[in-house]
Amino acid sequence: MNFIADMHCHTVASGHAYSTIEEYARAAKDKGIELIAVTDHGIEMPGAPHLWHFWNLRVVPEEINGVTILKGVEANIMDLDGNIDMPNDVLERLDIIIASFHYPCFQSGSVKENTVAAINALKNPFVDILGHPDDPNFLVDIDEVVAAAKEYGKLIELNNRSSMVRIGSDLYTIEFARKAKEYNTMAVCSSDAHISFELGEFDVVKQIVDDVQLPEELILNTSKGKILNFINNRRNRE
Ligand SMILES: [Zn+2]
Ligand SMILES: [Zn+2]
Repeated sequence: MNFIADMHCHTVASGHAYSTIEEYARAAKDKGIELIAVTDHGIEMPGAPHLWHFWNLRVVPEEINGVTILKGVEANIMDLDGNIDMPNDVLERLDIIIASFHYPCFQSGSVKENTVAAINALKNPFVDILGHPDDPNFLVDIDEVVAAAKEYGKLIELNNRSSMVRIGSDLYTIEFARKAKEYNTMAVCSSDAHISFELGEFDVVKQIVDDVQLPEELILNTSKGKILNFINNRRNRE
């Protein structure tokens, strides 16, 4: 299986990441990655960029050195209603929106409460991807979340960095991949790079995808056509 795109990376604008968009584009080119999504943290994360950062992303070319650049955000899920920390008039200017649980933006509750918050975020017509839902600090009911993603036409992220930074997540990442297969829910494999050297690194999730035999057609970032189709369709959501 060949991952030709990486839909989740952080630039210096995130405050705790260390590369620029140009450096990511260069790394992508070197690694044969055709498309990247730049997804800096939403504004409530300590050190995150000001709202104007996202507002002004239109100045970034749609292609750098032959690499397609999508402009996005990794927004923070803020409450049980699934509200995220970015206003709609900025979200509507972006190509791709990940919603994730992060400390200190979301106060983790019971599995039931976290599940409600995740599903409500998935219902938001602007949200495309549930980021690293395998985080043991924000446990959810995996069946319910994967079924909801299917219902709303959203993606479940298999995050290559989880096993390093979210200790104990491994079992949940595998379970999300299994359930994506069972429910026929689309997934996306992402590096969640915080420095350009991490871009396009998929070793952990590739092993999981192989182990559970998640079919290629259920993984968004295995063809540019599939991604561009998804981006086109998202514009027609209510
Ligand atoms: Zn995250
Ligand atoms: Zn991230």
